[in-house]
Order: sequence, then C-alpha cells, then structure tokens
Amino acid sequence: MKEIIMKRNRISIVFLTMLTFGLFFAACDDIGKVAADILFTDQDDVTLGQQVVSQINADTKTYPIWNDGRSTEVKYYLNNTVLTELLKSPVIEKKGVYQYHIEVIKDTILNAFALPGGPIYVYTGLLKYLTSESALAGVIGHEIAHAERRHAAQRMAAQYGLQMLMNVVLGQNPSTLAQIGANLLSGIALLQNSQLNETESDDYSFKYLKGTKYYPGSVKFFFEQMQADGLVSASGKVEAFFSTHPDPLSRIAGTNTRLTNDNITVIKFDDTASGINLYRTEYQNQIWAKLP
Ligand SMILES: [Zn+2]
Repeated sequence: MKEIIMKRNRISIVFLTMLTFGLFFAACDDIGKVAADILFTDQDDVTLGQQVVSQINADTKTYPIWNDGRSTEVKYYLNNTVLTELLKSPVIEKKGVYQYHIEVIKDTILNAFALPGGPIYVYTGLLKYLTSESALAGVIGHEIAHAERRHAAQRMAAQYGLQMLMNVVLGQNPSTLAQIGANLLSGIALLQNSQLNETESDDYSFKYLKGTKYYPGSVKFFFEQMQADGLVSASGKVEAFFSTHPDPLSRIAGTNTRLTNDNITVIKFDDTASGINLYRTEYQNQIWAKLP
C-alpha cells in the first residue's frame, strides 16, 4: 500500500512537473529521454527486463537458448572476458544497477539485442559470422548503449506515459509496470530502435571501447563485412534479414568520422597490416571453434 501511495505521489509530481514545464519540454529535443527518466527508474528497467527474460525462456521455439555442445565454455568466455573487459569503461555508468549478462540464442540469425536493465542476447549466427573479438565487442558495446541510454524506456514513456498520467487523474490503481511487462515481448516495438537510437548507440559503443583493449571503431566491422560480402544493396540497405539495424553505409561513415576526429587510425574489419590487435586468434579459438 505504502509503495502504491509513493508511486502515486511520484506520478503526481510528474504530472505537475509536466504541466509546469510542458512548453519547455515541447521545445526540447531530448524529450523522450527526459520523460523516460521521470516515469521509469533504473530499477524499473531491471524489473521489466527480468520479466521479458522469463517470457523469452518460456518461448523456446522463437528463442532457443543455446545449451548444448560447448555452450557453457563459450558463454563463460563471453561474460568473463569480453563483457568484463567492456565493463572496465568508465563511461558505462549503470553497471552497479543494471545486471549486464550475455545469453546466446542458437539460430542462424545475424543479430543481437538488449533488454531494459542489462540482459543482452547474441545469436550463434552472428557469432559464426564475425571474425574478431573486437568486432563482437563493438556489437556488445552497441547493445549496452541501448540499455544505458534507456531507449526501450523512452519508447515505453511515449507509449504508456499518457496512460500513467490518466490513471492518476482518474484515480485508478496504475499497476502499470506489470501491465507493461505483460505486453513487452508481444509489442515488438520494444526491440525496434529508431535511426537516432542506432546512431547514439554506435557513438556510445565507440566511447565505451576507447576505455578498453578493443579497437574503438569496432562497431562498424560487422557492416563492412556485410558490404564486402555483397549483403548491402546500392541504396545502402541491408538485405532483408537485418532490417532492425538500418542504414549500414552511413553508420560506417559515422564511425570513420569519430575515429578521424579522435586521431585514431581508420582500419577496416579485414585489415591485417596496421599492427592493431583485433583479437582474431582469441576469437577463433575461444568462440568460433566451439560454435554448433
Ligand atoms: Zn541497435
């Protein structure tokens, strides 16, 4: 009961604040982030993320978690080497609250995704496709950024914010978190990041990797490899299956600009002459060789 009252008080304050600063918010580009920060706590993100983990675990047909062969070894390496190295970055701020963890789905899909509050999923298809630990670190850094920058919470604020306020006005018991959690996975919008979200996540992947042993521009390697394999069309679109990560050519260019601005040597995913260690051998031995 006390929790409900506190929650109502919090939402009431939100309501008054939004009325007071409505005009200011309307003029602010970052309104989604502001609304998410007001309506959802970091702990809400963790709670919602765990609800979705339960839903994923229950839907083994859509999300077949990799649990046979040498999965234990690979997952141990992903979490205790790659993720641990990434979390050394001082720019990752929520590692004390969010529960960052990498899980692997056994499917040929070339993709990865993050849930609110830290759970990250990588498909074996993507692990098999990539050729260096740095390239993987770039992708994981990008997914960490979706969680850290609260892109899902921003979409939830847009979708449920008004409803949460109306519940206060109408005096109804909100219990909104449970309701949102029940709809998260079916509402595919949760995982649909906007172009702005993607650009911001690439930017933060770059910032995170700068504080680690990995090459800061590694997030672009996947797209360069796709391009080299003829999987990016002339219009700049990734062919069919990777439409959740649009506009690969501009994302490669964006990362190259970040590298140049920071006076970091620009190399491509298949570069072997630069002397920069992309941890190819480690990837081959610790991950690639053990995949199903
Ligand atoms: Zn993304």
